[in-house]
Amino acid sequence: MQRYSFVGGIHPDYSKEKTSSKKIEILSYEVGEVLTIPISQHLGAPSKELVKKKDIVNVGQKIASAGGAVSSNLHSPFNGEIEGISLAPHPIMGNIPSIKLRITDLNNEYKKIETKEKFQDTVAEAGIVGLGGATFPTHIKLSPPKKVEYLIINGAECEPFLTCDHRLMVEYTEEIILGAILIKEKLNINNLIVGIEDNKPDAIKSFEALKGKYLFELQILHTKYPQGGEKQLIYSTIGRTVPEGKLPLDVGVIVHNVGTCKAIYEAFTFGKPLYERVVTVTGAVKEPKNILVKIGTPISKLIDYCGGTVGDVKKIIIGGPMMGFAATSLDTPVTKGTSGVIVLRDEDLYDGKKSNCIRCGRCIEACPMGLVPAIMEQFSIQEMYEKLIDWHVVNCIECGCCSYVCPSRRPLVGYFKTAKRQVINILRQRAQK
Ligand code: SF4
Ligand code: SF4
Repeated sequence: MQRYSFVGGIHPDYSKEKTSSKKIEILSYEVGEVLTIPISQHLGAPSKELVKKKDIVNVGQKIASAGGAVSSNLHSPFNGEIEGISLAPHPIMGNIPSIKLRITDLNNEYKKIETKEKFQDTVAEAGIVGLGGATFPTHIKLSPPKKVEYLIINGAECEPFLTCDHRLMVEYTEEIILGAILIKEKLNINNLIVGIEDNKPDAIKSFEALKGKYLFELQILHTKYPQGGEKQLIYSTIGRTVPEGKLPLDVGVIVHNVGTCKAIYEAFTFGKPLYERVVTVTGAVKEPKNILVKIGTPISKLIDYCGGTVGDVKKIIIGGPMMGFAATSLDTPVTKGTSGVIVLRDEDLYDGKKSNCIRCGRCIEACPMGLVPAIMEQFSIQEMYEKLIDWHVVNCIECGCCSYVCPSRRPLVGYFKTAKRQVINILRQRAQK
């Protein structure tokens, strides 16, 4: 069988075996529990709240509307009463305004969204964002200004530990394909490809079983991080390179995550808004699981549901270990972009002692974007942004491969995240002149 891949990348310890065969469980709730729903759960402007303290809301009701062209709606996960809107921890953004919802009953019959004439508007109404972690509002990606040749469905799930997409692919294969076919038909796209890494044989089998029923191409990809990066996936599946500063659409492609396809199918077919998602809870917990969770649930509840922590916990990561963020509080809620909660002990963490660069070149070999991290690091430390522009720091996808392989434990990706922001500001200002 043919296998597909890209240049660079790494093979970390995937640590997926604890949850890859665990069926998705549904988290239960009680009347009186409080959910915390941040008004920013997507790339772009925060949503604008439509509710105030003491308002009574129904499950599925829109409680915040898109706050700009790049933004998304938020819906209530339960029937409940609004306790107020106040600052609360967010997985990435520190403390931000969040809607506090007290559950008043557990009826899960949701208020359907209004189906709009345009497919994209229905997706926007449902508040769907990219569920692979990027959280870009999906309706924008579904409104391309030019013809799309390829729709690629991202089933790589290359981040270690995470298995939420894997389980969706095994348990909701048909819903995912039906969501993808909706996109394909509505946007008149000729080619539909599903890309899955070869460490998910049961997911591959589930899709193979549907090949006679629906028209799509299944591509089995090498298991290599970051195979699920959009640019890497496009290269691996159709051999096209997205040029610097360009989007997949510029090479005739749109990419959607498997969870996003399922959410699109449910919105379009059943009028269901996005107010829950599957989260992998793993690492040093008694019983790692994949759990269907309402948006706004504190991560402490997920950890408790998994039997609590084991050993001396040093760090909890929200998302995957390569690109995720350290939780600052156990009250941090699950948002639309939360794919995992990973509990780590001292022995699970790398030795953090940094030493001098020994010019071994491993970071250069590992970089999937063909960059030279060892040199970019020097320019980042010295804040030499013009040099960083020349060395294409804007192409860095912040995958962390360079930091992972560095024997001197240089915190390379951390430097590039900061430097990139500065460089992007400089380039924007230059473009406005
Ligand atoms: S974080 Fe950036 S520089 Fe480092 S390997 Fe990834 S793309 Fe390359
Ligand atoms: S991997 Fe680390 S030590 Fe090796 S060249 Fe890159 S920065 Fe230097």
